[in-house]
Amino acid sequence: METFCRGPAAINRSSQAAHLENDIIYRKYRIFAPEWDLSSMINKPPENQPASDFNEPFLALDIAQMALDSANVGIWVLDAASGKFLPSARTKALLGFPPEEEMSFDNAMLHVVDKHRRTVLAAVENAVKLHSSLYIECPVIIPPEKKHRWLSITGGFGVSDVSKSYFSGIVIDITEQKQNDLRRSKFIGMVSHELKTPLTALKAYVQMLNNWARKQKDSFSIGALSKVEKQVKKMLNMINGLLNLSGAEAGKIHLTKQPFDLDALIRDVIEETLFMTGTHEIVMAPCETIRVNADHDKIEQVLVNLLSNAAKYSGKEDPISITCALQDNKVTVAVQDKGMGISPQNVEKLFLPHYRVESKETEKIEGFGIGLYLCAEIIHRHGGKIWVESEIGKGSEFKFTLPVN
Ligand code: ADP
Repeated sequence: METFCRGPAAINRSSQAAHLENDIIYRKYRIFAPEWDLSSMINKPPENQPASDFNEPFLALDIAQMALDSANVGIWVLDAASGKFLPSARTKALLGFPPEEEMSFDNAMLHVVDKHRRTVLAAVENAVKLHSSLYIECPVIIPPEKKHRWLSITGGFGVSDVSKSYFSGIVIDITEQKQNDLRRSKFIGMVSHELKTPLTALKAYVQMLNNWARKQKDSFSIGALSKVEKQVKKMLNMINGLLNLSGAEAGKIHLTKQPFDLDALIRDVIEETLFMTGTHEIVMAPCETIRVNADHDKIEQVLVNLLSNAAKYSGKEDPISITCALQDNKVTVAVQDKGMGISPQNVEKLFLPHYRVESKETEKIEGFGIGLYLCAEIIHRHGGKIWVESEIGKGSEFKFTLPVN
């Protein structure tokens, strides 16, 4: 086994951890090696030089290592039973640890920026508990210069041939991509701000005209102006979404909290959604008066997004239901539809910015993939949780909680 141990696997040969690591890494590459057909990709060696034998497992290991290193990809393995964490040298480097230093899972977490640590730990815990796949993006601070870096961490379960299951995955540096996202969102923020002012004035004039037409009992104008109002509201919602996105991506979602009745807000949003979509039946289960201290407009935005998604991603005849329940100083709101549903591998990425499910059904439905990201940012900033339970073809239930004092 030692013979096949290269690079990251050779961290501490004397310990049990090293055995586990060698074992896993060797098995992993041994599985991959025979499937590679490199002959078509690599030039034939010169006549006087012997051809290398790519079937040798340790060479396959070298090649895999080279490919991972040149792509700047770190790998890691977590033994769920013992909690032992085995990072490759590249994973250590990406998290700011020298190769000779031991990096336990807890030590690695200390380098994650404080306000993201809880989310990362919860995502890992959830993936280990449910045996589901993991995808997270998080910022880390690299000592001693306190340099910031963004990492994406992907993982999943694999079962080795000794009937043990290992949680393993990769780490990639996405700092540059994140910086580009930030530049783009600053630009979007500026443009949206400029667009919002004339549109707000337009909305006010359309509402005034609509009121005037009602007084005149001019049914043609009422119909036409209602349509204009709907479109203006739609555009304003989109612009507000883009404005909030640029704020959220810059870590600047500001809450203006005030006490209000959540049940009354839900009823208003249902009316608004019915006005905008004019299609689905929306049923609200009886709900007691629930007073919350929260940002009224932002919670409204969350409800508008969840209800309009429920309408967007289900058939016109499918009913939508909404419930709210108060328990243990928190309220849980659930929006349920009987639409297309979401597959488990998409569920965990839904709350990332710009993520949209790509399928035959969704390609015809318009959207930017920012609504759920903003919902999650708003709910987390309030100290609540948001998640979805869904089954393909059967529908989805989006739920969020808010603390009630
Ligand atoms: P958008 O709807 O603008 O694309 P969102 O962030 O609101 O952006 O949603 C992200 C993705 O999640 C959507 O593109 C869609 O694929 C999926 N999604 C959201 N809500 C539902 C739902 N109720 N049913 C099925 N898929 C949904």
